[in-house]
Amino acid sequence: MADIFENLIAKNPGETEFHQAAKEVISSIQPVLDANPKFVEERIVERVLEPERLISFKVEWIDDRGRVHINKGFRVQMNSAMGPYKGGLRFHPSVNQSILKFLAFEQVFKNALTTLPLGGGKGGSDFDPKGRSDKEVMKFCQAFMRELMRHIGPHLDVPAGDIGVGGREIGYLFGSYKKIRNEFSGVLTGKGLNWGGSNMRPEATGYGLIYFADSMLKANGDSLEGKTCIISGSGNVALYAIEKLNSLGAKVISASDSSGFIVDEAGIDKGKLDFLMDLKFNRRGRISEYAEKYSEARYVAKNKELDYNPLWELKADCAFPCATQNEINKKDAEHLVKNETKLLAEGANMPTTLDGIELIQKSGALYAPAKASNAGGVATSGLEMTQNRMGLYWKREEVDERLQEIMKNIHDTSLSVAEKYGHPGDYLSGANMAAFEKVAQSMVDQGVI
Ligand code: NDP
Repeated sequence: MADIFENLIAKNPGETEFHQAAKEVISSIQPVLDANPKFVEERIVERVLEPERLISFKVEWIDDRGRVHINKGFRVQMNSAMGPYKGGLRFHPSVNQSILKFLAFEQVFKNALTTLPLGGGKGGSDFDPKGRSDKEVMKFCQAFMRELMRHIGPHLDVPAGDIGVGGREIGYLFGSYKKIRNEFSGVLTGKGLNWGGSNMRPEATGYGLIYFADSMLKANGDSLEGKTCIISGSGNVALYAIEKLNSLGAKVISASDSSGFIVDEAGIDKGKLDFLMDLKFNRRGRISEYAEKYSEARYVAKNKELDYNPLWELKADCAFPCATQNEINKKDAEHLVKNETKLLAEGANMPTTLDGIELIQKSGALYAPAKASNAGGVATSGLEMTQNRMGLYWKREEVDERLQEIMKNIHDTSLSVAEKYGHPGDYLSGANMAAFEKVAQSMVDQGVI
């Protein structure tokens, strides 16, 4: 395995996020390889690490003041062994090939865990929608889709949202695809409810994360009721996670954005959450406004000099990172362990560094890896694809029931596979092994192509 990893680094120099995601999976699948010599003979590990197709393109657009902008656009079609490529689009200045490869790689295994027929991919652009007018975002989305449309399709590759891509962006992207292709199809998920979207898709990742955490606690004779929770982020995943935590009787005392975080020891209750949803989804404001409105809360601005995030120093029972990758490092993990945090469940993709994960797991706290705990979003996207193919809309309760069933199944599978291969209680190894086994077997079945 060490030689495979060394070769990966040599072939993909500088792609640190991709190396990190690969290492996390590679270091936990040896028992599956020992039990399935064919996977080694057919070099499945090496093959799964190489994207099937990596598309990179130029996006030109004109802003409201008539200035020309040039952005980079990408789509990584990582693996289609289990179904059409499926995974979000991220619009954020930090987007580059390494970040999208790590996300696409994670997505392959996450999608396999959902038990739906989905391959894995990811895409996006270094375009920053923050501070842009709706018209500028529309122009960018149209320019982006003018190229992306050549590479996607309802049976080929079905993108969705991610950081910086919400309902507004999906609308503009969908409208543009429909116009150019002269076709109304389920080519994207996260669509509006009036035009092919699924009930519960906006809520799905956050709700799914909390369903997963609830299952973990229940498996240990505990529950979320009365637990104090810290959350990072204030986007799609974070806000719906807060909503579900509130409904299960937990108290959430933090939320953040890229400028800083707020602490509200009284808890972000329904009224305050409504304010946050309006602030973030409609007014596109900053989290600091929360502390201006509610005097019991305080705002802590981001301090770039610190090599840790003071948000993770807050005392709480459960922690839910829901912003971005590598937001919990070793030092943050030390703070969580010192505060005897009982559970860390990942809403964001790869939010914890490898040494951070090691510390959390060693402390005996429950640890839920993103590819298992945040799979509710893509699972509901899969349900949106099914509804589109059937030409039907399922009721909210129906989708929620399926989502809960899928999250429970991912939880139980991760646990049972971990147990089967001698790692009882280790959700990380269990999820990696369960997902890898499925993808690998599908690749073997389909031959070297
Ligand atoms: P949103 O764009 O809705 O929200 C992202 C939030 O994270 C914002 O509060 C944003 O603050 C903050 N954030 C983003 N980048 C950084 C950064 N570098 N440092 C600090 N804060 C940051 O995205 P989502 O909620 O959709 O996604 C959040 C995470 O969840 C991502 O890791 C994503 O990949 C993952 N995820 C999302 C799914 C979905 O269905 N949406 C599905 C599965 C995983 P600001 O506004 O200041 O940028």
